[in-house]
Amino acid sequence: MVLADLGGSITRALKQMSNATIIDEKVLNECLNEITRALLQSDVQFKLVRDMQTNIKKIVNLDDLAAGHNKRRIIQQAVFNELCNILDPGKPAFTPKKGKASVVMFVGLQGSGKTTTCTKYAFYHQKKGWKPALVCADTFRAGAFDQLKQNATKAKIPFYGSYMESDPVKIAVEGVERFKKENCDLIIVDTSGRHKQEAALFEEMRQVSEATKPDLVIFVMDSSIGQAAFDQAQAFKQSVAVGAVIITKMDGHAKGGGALSAVAATKSPVIFIGTGEHMDEFEVFDVKPFVSRLLGQGDLSGFMNKIHEVVPMDQQPELLNKLQEGTFTLRIMYEQFQNILKMGPMSEVFSMLPGFSNELLPKGKDQDSQAKIKRYMTMMDSMTNEELDSSNPKLMNESRMMRIARGSGRQVREVMEMMEEYKRLAKIWSKMKGLKIPKKGDMNSM
Ligand code: GDP
Repeated sequence: MVLADLGGSITRALKQMSNATIIDEKVLNECLNEITRALLQSDVQFKLVRDMQTNIKKIVNLDDLAAGHNKRRIIQQAVFNELCNILDPGKPAFTPKKGKASVVMFVGLQGSGKTTTCTKYAFYHQKKGWKPALVCADTFRAGAFDQLKQNATKAKIPFYGSYMESDPVKIAVEGVERFKKENCDLIIVDTSGRHKQEAALFEEMRQVSEATKPDLVIFVMDSSIGQAAFDQAQAFKQSVAVGAVIITKMDGHAKGGGALSAVAATKSPVIFIGTGEHMDEFEVFDVKPFVSRLLGQGDLSGFMNKIHEVVPMDQQPELLNKLQEGTFTLRIMYEQFQNILKMGPMSEVFSMLPGFSNELLPKGKDQDSQAKIKRYMTMMDSMTNEELDSSNPKLMNESRMMRIARGSGRQVREVMEMMEEYKRLAKIWSKMKGLKIPKKGDMNSM
């Protein structure tokens, strides 16, 4: 079950409960069982889900519910708080300090995205003015050094490794010493992975850790591993002092539940998530927005802040009204494209909406997206007012599409592609219908 589905299931369970005339224990239990099922399908560990259910029952007072308070909100808030509690282990991860040499060791299974993530982590800090360096202590996988070298060269980050040396401890120590001498302030050590958890891997990890004395050990986990997340994270934690977690491949059919399990197993916070193969598809992880998205609420606080930041003041009420109405016409699409071209960051705004994928505006491909948007706008310039103001895609028959293609000098195939994009966006837009959008200033209560 992917994140959006989980949100949908929980919302449905809450809705069903609030439709009931009397909220008694039976109705509450049914609702919680439904939520439990949804969480289990999202790969949250069984024990965590059971504990969570017990806690919610303790928090939610049935008398309060009976007294006509907003039941759905009380329970939703309890679910929200419980998920946040699981994801917040109570102590922050060690934060390296700029200008002071820190050693950060990466561990994880082969294929988890460890090497890619090392470079993303280095690149992220380099952009913020750090002097990172990469050490390849993975002597197990053929080609590991080449991969790291290639990534590092692309990002212009110094690296160290060897084709000849087979002792990972020796390479790690030499690399760390060398980069300390060169005044690098973030020395990142990539260690070997294995296809599965095995004794040799953990022994090697322990040795590298003892020899390099890392300030922080980061456990990298693939978000799609499912229910195995808890045991895998725990096995790593038992071998080395894992202090933080990075979850990768959150862009695919990610099961967000694994993140909760990994935090619970390692008692360490998730600090970043990987959202693609590209170097800058890497996001700082914040608990509350993540849980909001998990519950299908979207990151509304982030969304509203962005709206206030980037949409001109006088256009804000209109945009919000249109969002709440849920009707999406080609003219609205045109206006939003104008915003995107003018302000760029609109792509960030829309990526915060529940269910909004970044297919139209993939990160790191701004130029391609802009060219595509301009192409779409040229085609829309050849449309009639009737076509622009209709929210019925069926209106756009073949002869209309041929006329638009001729008028804009594009292919019919391209008009069809734009209409597909329009339908996709209209579907997402309709999800916003009736959404209670908080006003500026109300944000802190979210
Ligand atoms: P390692 O064996 O753990 O070092 O894994 P790699 O870094 O070689 O990554 C394995 C594969 O996962 C590669 O094809 C990466 O491009 C891909 N990958 C890594 N992180 C992400 C991510 O966040 N999203 C996606 N879609 N792919 C990723």
